[in-house]
Parts: sequence; C-alpha cells; structure tokens
Amino acid sequence: MSIKQQPKQPRGRIIANILLVVSGLFLLLNLILPSIFPSGPAGVPYSLFIHQVQEGEVDRVSVGQNQIRYQLKSENGEAGSVFVTTPIFDLELPKLLESKGVEFAATPPPKNTWFSTVINWVVPPLIFVGIWQFFMSRGGGGGPQGMLSIGKSKAKVYVEGESAKITFADVAGVEEAKTELVEVVDFLKSPARFTEIGARIPKGVLLVGPPGTGKTLLAKAVAGEAGVPFFSISGSEFVELFVGVGSSRVRDLFDQAKKQAPCIIFIDELDAIGKSRSSNGFYGGNDEREQTLNQLLTEMDGFAAGGATVIVLAATNRPETLDPALLRPGRFDRQVLVDRPDLSGREAILKIHSLKVKLGKDVNLKAIATRTPGFAGADLANLVNEAALLAARNKRETVAQEDFAEAIERVVAGLEKKSRVLNETEKKIVAYHEVGHAMVGALMPGSGRVEKISIIPRGMAALGYTLQLPTEDRFLMNEEELRGQIATLLGGRSAEEIIFGSITTGAANDLQRATDLAERMVTTYGMSKVLGPLAYQQGQQAMFLGNGGNNPRRMVSEDTAKAIDSEVKEIVETAHEHALEILKQNRDLLEEIAVQLLETEVIEGDKLHSLLGQIQPLAK
Ligand code: ADP
Ligand code: MG
Ligand code: ZN
Repeated sequence: MSIKQQPKQPRGRIIANILLVVSGLFLLLNLILPSIFPSGPAGVPYSLFIHQVQEGEVDRVSVGQNQIRYQLKSENGEAGSVFVTTPIFDLELPKLLESKGVEFAATPPPKNTWFSTVINWVVPPLIFVGIWQFFMSRGGGGGPQGMLSIGKSKAKVYVEGESAKITFADVAGVEEAKTELVEVVDFLKSPARFTEIGARIPKGVLLVGPPGTGKTLLAKAVAGEAGVPFFSISGSEFVELFVGVGSSRVRDLFDQAKKQAPCIIFIDELDAIGKSRSSNGFYGGNDEREQTLNQLLTEMDGFAAGGATVIVLAATNRPETLDPALLRPGRFDRQVLVDRPDLSGREAILKIHSLKVKLGKDVNLKAIATRTPGFAGADLANLVNEAALLAARNKRETVAQEDFAEAIERVVAGLEKKSRVLNETEKKIVAYHEVGHAMVGALMPGSGRVEKISIIPRGMAALGYTLQLPTEDRFLMNEEELRGQIATLLGGRSAEEIIFGSITTGAANDLQRATDLAERMVTTYGMSKVLGPLAYQQGQQAMFLGNGGNNPRRMVSEDTAKAIDSEVKEIVETAHEHALEILKQNRDLLEEIAVQLLETEVIEGDKLHSLLGQIQPLAK
C-alpha cells in the first residue's frame, strides 16, 4: 500500500501555518508545563494533609507560596510517595509540624527564568497574530481552506499495492456480510453492467457490529478485491473545535474521492458525526457536528448525478444513536450486520491468524474455538499472539496447546497479576464468594461445566474468578437455564451472606449482570407470565427505520413499567433464594472447598469435578 501525498501549498500559506503551529505550541507548553513540573505529584485536599500529619504519616514538608509539597514516611525501604496540597493561611501549621517531629522548610519563590520571560512576553503576540490571520482568511472569501489547510481532509488514501493487499480471504466468520459485500465489489468493478439496465447503484453501506468483529478489515477487503483506492477517515476526526472545519473536510474528502472514482470512502465511527440531532439536547446542541452531518448528507445526495462510482462504507457499533436522516434511501440504506463469529467461524479466524505463527502438532484449533464463545475476531487475533508470546517465553520452538489454554485465560480475565496481594480477610471472602458461584453453577442446567476456581487476582477488576466452559455453542436458552444463570451469578454474594453475614462491594458486577439478564427475560424474550409474550424492547429494525427515536424501551404505560420492574425483581429474588438454599444445604461442602481453595489458590480439573460432584441437589 502506498500513501499519496497532498498537493503542494503556496509559500505564504506555509509561513502562516508555521506561525500558527509555533504559537499554538507555546500556548500548549504554557498550559501544560506548570501542571507537569511544580505539581507533578498528586494534589490532595488540605484537610487530608493535616490528617496525615496528625496520624504521623508525614516525613517532611516543604512549604511554598502557592503549594505545599510533602513526602510520606518510607515503608519497607521504599521512598514514601510525594503529594502536594494548596496551602491555606494556617498559623497552627508550624506548631503542629514541630509537635509531630516533621522536618519542614520554606521554599523560595520561583525565579524569573528566561523561559517564563519567553512565555509571558513573546507568546501572546504570536498567538494574536495566528488567530488574526486565521480569521482574516475565513473572511477573505476563500472559506476555511483559503489560507490554512485546517479544512483539508485528513483522509488517508490507500491505493492497492501488490504487497499488502487485503482480500476476503483474510476475513472469516462473517459469511453473510461477505456475501453482501461481494455485490459492492461487483458495482465497483463493472458499474456499467448495472447502470445499463437502469439499476441505481447503492451509495452507502453501513457496517454494524460490536468492536473488533472486522468491520474495518471488511472495508479494506472490499477495496482490495475491487482494486480501487480506499479513502479512510474516522468520524471523530471530523469533529473539530472550530465551527465549519468539519464540513469543509467532508467537502474536500468527497472532491478528492470523485477525482479518483471508482473508489471507496470509509468512514469509521460514523456515530461520532452522525448522532441523532434530537439526542444532543444535553450538550445544548452541537453546531459543529450538525453542520458536518448536513454536509455529509448533501454530498451523499449530490454525487449520483455526476455518474462517478463512489461507494461510501461506514462502520458503527451504535446504530441506534444515528440520525434517522442518515439511514434514508439513497444514503446509508444498506445495513450489513457484522456479528461475533460462531464456533466454525472462530475456527476459521483462528486458522487465518495462526498461519503467521509456528503451530505445534498437538494444537487443536477446533477445541480452542469451542472454548472461546463470545470472542470477536480481534480477540482471537490477540489470543494467537498471546499464545505465541507464551511459547517464546517458555523457550519452545512451536506454539503448543497448553500455551493456548493459558492464553485463553489471560484474554478472558486480563493478565495474571500475582503482585496484587490481598490481605487474609479479603482472600477468605473472595474464596467463599467464588466457591459460591461454582457450587450453584454446578447444579444449574445449561450453564456449562465449572472448570476452574481461582483466587489469584487478574487484571485490575477481578479479584478471583470462576471459569465455566460451555460444552457447545448455545444460541437458544430456555427460561429455566436463564434463571439458573442468574442464580449462579448471585451464588457469590449468597455465600458471603451465609458465611460472613454481610456482603462486600465485590458482588456489584454480578448483580449488574443478573439484573440485566432478568430484564431481558421480561422485556425481550417474553418470558414473564404476568406481562405475556410481548417485546417491550424496541427491535433493532424499528430503530434503523428511524421511527423509534432513541428510547430502547417501547412506549409503555406507567402501570406496565411498574409491572416490568416488579417482574424483574421477582426473578432476581427467586434466584437469590434458590442460591441461598443450595448453599445452606451444602454448607459443610462450601467450607471444605473454600478451605482447600485458600490453601492452593486454584482448584481445577478432576479434583474440582469430584468435589463439586458431592453437592446435594435440593429436594423438589
Ligand atoms: P472493527 O473495525 O470491527 O472494530 P477491525 O476490523 O479493526 O475490527 O479488527 C481488528 C483486527 O482483528 C483485524 O485487523 C484482524 O486482524 C482481526 N479480525 C477481526 N475480525 C476478523 C475476522 N472476521 N476475520 C479475521 N480477522 C479478524
Ligand atoms: Mg474499526
Ligand atoms: Zn462474583
């Protein structure tokens, strides 16, 4: 791939640009430097500082005119951390410091260095000149792109090169999307075939799907297959501080593209410009974005007339926030769903990415695919790379199955962080919490086998975790299984309640997920006896057509809303009761497993299965 150069600019423009950039840099330095240098350490409230002094935690203090810097006493040989606080007029402070034996000194006021002279005397005129020129140029009839090239589109142009051509063969697991896009490739390759019969070539195709599922990759593959230039820009790059810049960028981008037709314009993160105009009331409206959006709509309506084949591909993971005007016929009237891959899709993606690494003979990609439901393409690419890194670290020649097994855990739960040490009480709570999940999960239908419980913290959030691996990909779940999942999620908290009689903040995420699931059962899956088989959630289709606004719930009466809430509550509470009963009845086993877990930190495999096999199910 090669990147095309922008056309040359006249010298006057270049000088003005340099002036503006230089003055901007100084302004930035002026803003940033004070916050980096004198107050690099974290700022804390004065009251906290006094508290720390009183507790005897402070080692030494340096009192300046505008700030107080202080260092905490060292702990286990490491230097204590440094903080700053803003001084208030406090005559008691020296006495307090003395009584606590804190070393302290006053710092002299800052000297006038050449640097601050420059900042104070040279920069403001420069900024003034820069801004003045900028406005002159806008008033001067040339529009925003008159003098400075701020208005120029920043689109990167990729022209197909022999070396790194991306094709449909590089994308897997999204077969339906590919089928639809093959058609787009045909339009680009031989537009005449379609126009001769009088067919209208679609202009806009919207790729919709979660992050990392391969939307960008697909757009590049379309360009690669058709052998046409590919202009790529991200929606967020359009949204600028200055009103009018975004829209002139859009104009410039389409001008460039039309000259190179047939070609593809790819707008990533379309939602950054295309947010529904009715939905930004909170910010009091955003003129700049609105103008940019209008310009985009105008350009899309305009270019059919010229006969140039420019197809606009755009990607978003939040189609429901888009302005309905974008989705009307003649604009982004085709939507292609790019969803997370299923079992065979995951295997195919793994195959593509493992071509780049040396695989051992024992590697079974199908088994890996089975263990990674919910992974998007990008996660799988990451997984292969992690496995290769692990193999290299273990000084292996090729990547082995066990590297993949460990990599899955890493990708699932964040990197292993043995350094974050829990204290004994915390560890105990986490142990019972995880065993609670595992025991309830083991009895519930359809939630997969519990393969591992661990109290080794991973990543930043999870203190411990319970790994349940499904034995197959599930698309359909029945009500009982969903209720089982909710009970499993509440198992951790229930165990804490039974053993410690109190609950900790550690269960917040579990509760969130349990409640979400219960709400979906009622509002989307129609599983409530009271509310009946109605969908109270807006369908995606309805939102695409623009008649739904942005409210994810259908308009419901107040009574219905109350009924939904009480149904959700009922589901969660029943599941909670269920989990409590199971754990109470098997309390001895709960204790036994937790004690073992505290000892070994991890229980997995056959040992875990045999322990969990001893659970007594509830008598019905
Ligand atoms: P998105 O634009 O949907 O967020 P990307 O296209 O940027 O996702 O995907 C990031 C990377 O993940 C790609 O460059 C590719 O390596 C890998 N990837 C994602 N989806 C797929 C897929 N369906 N097939 C093969 N690789 C994929
Ligand atoms: Mg992307
Ligand atoms: Zn939990």
